[in-house]
Amino acid sequence: MTDEIFTGSFTQQEPIPEEGIEAAVAVLRSGRLHRYNTVGDEAGETALLEQEFAALTGAKYCLAVASGGYAIGCALRAVGVQPGDSVLTNAFTLAPVPGAIAALGAKPVFVEVTEDLLIDLEHLARQIAETDAKVLLLSHMRGHICDMDALMAICDTASVKVIEDCAHTMGANWNRVPSGRHGVAACYSTQTYKHVNSGEGGFLTSDDEVLMARAVMLSGSYMLYERHLAAPSADAFEKIRLETPNVSGRMDNLRAAILRPQLKGLAENARRWNALYKEMEVGLSGVNGLVIPHRPAKEGYVASSFQFLLPDWSPQEIIDFVKRCAKRGVELKWFGGAEPQGFTSRYDSWRYADAQNLPQTDRVLGGLLDMRLPLTFSTDDVALIARIVRSEVARIIGH
Ligand SMILES: *Cc1c(COP(=O)(O)O)cnc(C)c1O
Repeated sequence: MTDEIFTGSFTQQEPIPEEGIEAAVAVLRSGRLHRYNTVGDEAGETALLEQEFAALTGAKYCLAVASGGYAIGCALRAVGVQPGDSVLTNAFTLAPVPGAIAALGAKPVFVEVTEDLLIDLEHLARQIAETDAKVLLLSHMRGHICDMDALMAICDTASVKVIEDCAHTMGANWNRVPSGRHGVAACYSTQTYKHVNSGEGGFLTSDDEVLMARAVMLSGSYMLYERHLAAPSADAFEKIRLETPNVSGRMDNLRAAILRPQLKGLAENARRWNALYKEMEVGLSGVNGLVIPHRPAKEGYVASSFQFLLPDWSPQEIIDFVKRCAKRGVELKWFGGAEPQGFTSRYDSWRYADAQNLPQTDRVLGGLLDMRLPLTFSTDDVALIARIVRSEVARIIGH
């Protein structure tokens, strides 16, 4: 029997909904792409988008910005992180997270990851006790949400402020509380590989009036903040408007126009993503040597990717396995590689951060494989991918 081969693309997203394309064309025809280039009492696409995203998450305030990474940097500044401050964050995350900390001249302090790809709460408590960090930048990496009640109890007790990186949890929840609603602020990305797609873009949400007024000023509102529909009232700006620098990073009306119809489709797309995830879970269950992270019952996830572990495989075995899968059209990312590749890198390759020894994270990442599940895949595609992975695991384990 010849080996089955998958011919789909792991990086192909769905097209922008027609409604979004039409709205984008209307913005282009108007020529008014800048968010503050409005006529009369016209609201503008960006202001409306912010209002709609605030309503979707239940946040009091929302600011749309140029990228998810910008939202994170803006949140860190708005909570008052200063150069030289230690900021706690996950050792298992993506480069824009420690990068945002470093951009402020602050110091990333990493927290270990568990085998279920969650932040290690015991190690978090220890790092809080052993450092002077007053902020945790919590990355819900690859959409895995830790016990948020336990995490908030630890951080609240120690007066550590939590900023949530929800780049992979837009539309997700913990115990029915939307992801992003536990910390003092939350950051989302609308970059092509996330849950809504405007090429680049992001959101910052919060219920904190002062924090949000600062964020709006930081984003480059000049003195036009009263044109926002999901920002604090003008008096909140009085105290901070002259002492807050403009670190320009606004969203524009073109991207906002593309995003607004996508927000309406988010819940349905979440259902479709999770159907793909479940298909993969079934297809890869019971494979000798392969471990799928356990997902807690309280976690309402939105899967746009799938992770599994090949614990204690040698680097050479994993390299061979990834190559064999690639030959059959299955694109896997390995988080254990010595050199950063593509979007994938590890905490010890971020050399601008102080070196840290994280043996548990090393072991987990050493066996961690990751794949995208774009909505252009059907459940039949996923079943085929799972059969290919199974057979290649068996080939290496079997000998
Ligand atoms: C993509 C991503 C970001 C940053 O988003 P950009 O919009 O690309 O700047 C932050 N954190 C994680 C975990 C991400 O995957």
